[in-house]
Amino acid sequence: MTKQTLNFQAEVAQLLHLVTHSLYSNREIFLRELISNASDACDKLRFEALNNAALYEDAPNLEVRVALDKDARTLTITDNGIGLSQQEAIDNLGTIAKSGTREFMGKLSGEQKADAQLIGQFGVGFYSGFIVADKITVESRRAGSAASEGVRWVSGGTGDFEVETIDRPQRGTSVILHLREDAGDYLDAWTVKGIIGKYSDHISLPILMEKEEWKAGENDQPGAMVKTGNWEPVNQANALWARAKKDITTEQYQDFYKQIAFDAENPLAWSHNRVEGSTEYTQLLYIPGKAPSDLYMRDKVAGIKLYVKRVFIMDEAEALMPGYLRFVKGVVDSADLPLNVSRELLQESRDVKAIREGCTKRVLGMLEDLAKNDQPAAEGADGVTDVPSDEDKAKVGQYSRFYAEFGAVLKEGLTEDFANRDRIAKLLRYASTHSDTVNVSLADYVARMKDGQEAIYYITADNLAAAKSSPQLEVFRKKGIEVLLMTDRVDEWALNYLRDFDGKPLQSVAKGAVDLGKLQDEAEKKAAEEAAEAFKPVLAKLKEALKDKAEDVRVTTRLVDSPACLVVQDGGMSTQLARMLKQAGQKAPEIKPTLEVNAEHALVKKLDGSVNFHDLAHILFDQALLAEGGMPTDPAAYVKRVNALLV
Ligand code: ADP
Repeated sequence: MTKQTLNFQAEVAQLLHLVTHSLYSNREIFLRELISNASDACDKLRFEALNNAALYEDAPNLEVRVALDKDARTLTITDNGIGLSQQEAIDNLGTIAKSGTREFMGKLSGEQKADAQLIGQFGVGFYSGFIVADKITVESRRAGSAASEGVRWVSGGTGDFEVETIDRPQRGTSVILHLREDAGDYLDAWTVKGIIGKYSDHISLPILMEKEEWKAGENDQPGAMVKTGNWEPVNQANALWARAKKDITTEQYQDFYKQIAFDAENPLAWSHNRVEGSTEYTQLLYIPGKAPSDLYMRDKVAGIKLYVKRVFIMDEAEALMPGYLRFVKGVVDSADLPLNVSRELLQESRDVKAIREGCTKRVLGMLEDLAKNDQPAAEGADGVTDVPSDEDKAKVGQYSRFYAEFGAVLKEGLTEDFANRDRIAKLLRYASTHSDTVNVSLADYVARMKDGQEAIYYITADNLAAAKSSPQLEVFRKKGIEVLLMTDRVDEWALNYLRDFDGKPLQSVAKGAVDLGKLQDEAEKKAAEEAAEAFKPVLAKLKEALKDKAEDVRVTTRLVDSPACLVVQDGGMSTQLARMLKQAGQKAPEIKPTLEVNAEHALVKKLDGSVNFHDLAHILFDQALLAEGGMPTDPAAYVKRVNALLV
């Protein structure tokens, strides 16, 4: 074939115009794209050679070489992969075939600046070379064809390209970038090595560069780096996740975690799987042992790195993991996503949705496994203890560790992952009136419920001490009914999304009237009704005295030792949560609580007929507020009233 000039497909011309006329921040991605093409070409050769080993010719070791020539101002990427025939060069380098680039073209707005930014995200494959080159020469020969059937393809990145036949003894492709005036940085070996390390470290092929050595200058001439003729690998080629599980040691898994998570400690657990199905990917997911300091930041980051066929695409791919599992670190390597996938595209992709669901299930599975082995194996009901494996023994106490670090984040899952709510609910742990440590699961609670108990009782408070001394717990304690003590900020909000567990409603002991149902016997109920009846006139006076502060005043059976407590409506926001929101500078509704009084308490009995009824009523209310960690609206008035009594 003699030299001929051909026109680019209109779409390519349009794309090239954009690439060459736009400045943008992420120029270095061209190297990622071209190395990835080289690696693909080697993969293709390996595949075709399965049926035809002769394709290897005399060079069975697949590799990519990156060469810099300062004098000629070229950067050349050479692979010994499958290569291009003349027709393939014309077809593949003159038209846009792949869907990703087409999608990119569809998104172009025609506005230079916005579009330029898009390229940065997308990459656009081979044509990215024109970001840094004003001319690209491609020389190639397809594996298996004669040396005389090589092809040279040359283009200045405008409307057309030239092709001609050349002699090319070695198989594969060289992409020679004639660097633009302003792209001299890419002639520097350090810079280029850095970029390869960043994007292509995990490509499983060796990427080689020629070693340089310092040579001192002679006769007052300055010294310089000179090429040595030795080629050395510059990538680690350590895509751990791409290897078979059985070939990876525990230590290697741990080291890899430390490297990607920037953590000096070992992870609590990991899970490594190859998933095949509608979308194919490999996941290597780790649960860290310690929470990072920015776990609760609003712009929560995800810890998942996305690779496509071992080429690094992006850090913090939040689309791959739901927000409540943002602490998980690891790698997802997709076989199906386009290399140039952008964050926006990730959000919309069905493959990504499937990956995200798969990763979520995996992580929940890991947590369930840790939770199952958190306690030392107990003797079974039949008196036989299953002998735990060493692996299981190592898991004792790990879920507690995990939960102390990440439990509060996991709870957010109740609010955002409805499909997995039951699994998440089973993973929750709380302290309770039966346990100071945060190790009571809802299932444990249900198993311990009293005969006739219908609800799972809980209280929310600022801290464990406050929760434990809440007056609202008194009757539960007296009757030996367990109450969960919840002290995380997210608890109340999260529980809005978990109305019941195992068919039992969750009921706050500080909301609504107490109805212990069958837990109260007939005699108790009758006594309570009589007391309330007798107390009616006093109640009316109390309501009047406190009409600005209390929504209602009523007699309660929930108190034993305390004279009074505050409760809010069922389903309403608790006073603590409202307080917390206000402290955080957020809007919170003005809550007018209901004052519940213990008609059996000496102080309450004293009310009837007392001369300072009004002051006593206010003291009662303000004390109830203080008891739950609140503050009287007029502290000075409160002090004055108490002092008057003391005197
Ligand atoms: P993509 O690689 O995503 O298909 P590109 O624009 O990067 O898109 O490349 C277009 C085509 O050119 C590739 O599909 C491939 O057939 C061919 N090609 C590019 N680089 C090489 C290479 N180094 N060796 C062989 N073929 C290549």
